[in-house]
Amino acid sequence: MNPKLSPQCSKCPTAVCSPAVGAAEKASLDQAPAFCPMKVSPEILDKALEKYQSPDIQEFARQASIQEFECYENTPEGRRTKNPRIVELIQFAGKMGYTKLGLAFCAGLSHEARIVTEILENQGLQVVSARCKMGGIPKEKIGIKPEQKIGGPLSCEPMCNPIAQAEVLNSEKVDMAVMLGLCLGHDTLFFQYCRVPVTVLAVKDRVTGHNPLAAIYLSSSYYGRLMPKKTANSKLETRNRQLAAGNS
Ligand code: SF4
Repeated sequence: MNPKLSPQCSKCPTAVCSPAVGAAEKASLDQAPAFCPMKVSPEILDKALEKYQSPDIQEFARQASIQEFECYENTPEGRRTKNPRIVELIQFAGKMGYTKLGLAFCAGLSHEARIVTEILENQGLQVVSARCKMGGIPKEKIGIKPEQKIGGPLSCEPMCNPIAQAEVLNSEKVDMAVMLGLCLGHDTLFFQYCRVPVTVLAVKDRVTGHNPLAAIYLSSSYYGRLMPKKTANSKLETRNRQLAAGNS
């Protein structure tokens, strides 16, 4: 018996889960690859679908889909997008009847946190905010060595404290927590300890102005070193194709 395949949606050539058929038609699974979770683990999908039957979950999912819908508009020139994420956040909070938001932010984004707070409060929302360095606990407490401190061995460097951020927002019973720019890994702990609904306003990327996809978009050029090495021949073929297309 073949071992069970792991889902590989990111390598899917067909994406039949978003079929190009009318609302009344049913997509066929025949074209789905063997690693498709609809083929590999249909029971998991069935159980997930059951969870949407819970009224609270269904309402949350419904409002999220309406929010998604409202981020587009049809114009004579065609469909176009609207609403930056901060506007979406305000709109979604309104849909859900949320009045009290928690903002967990990175010390490196203190300026942005102040502006976000001002915007949200200006929209009538109450904001409870929690900075990552709360507690002021030296990094040595979690086993960081002097030479592993960003400011150098002699600096006093407080550790990031995402668990405290989460617990403070939990204890405040915020309707929703908003993560703003916590470090990779610290954000993981924050999510792990949050017991209220959480969303992300921005993730940290110190190099790209907190836009991690910039490096992905440049993965065929400036960040090509991240990609599998191409053979000399395939590079030459690409170059020849570019020349043939008239691109220098
Ligand atoms: S769910 Fe199946 S059809 Fe959809 S992207 Fe994943 S593998 Fe492809």
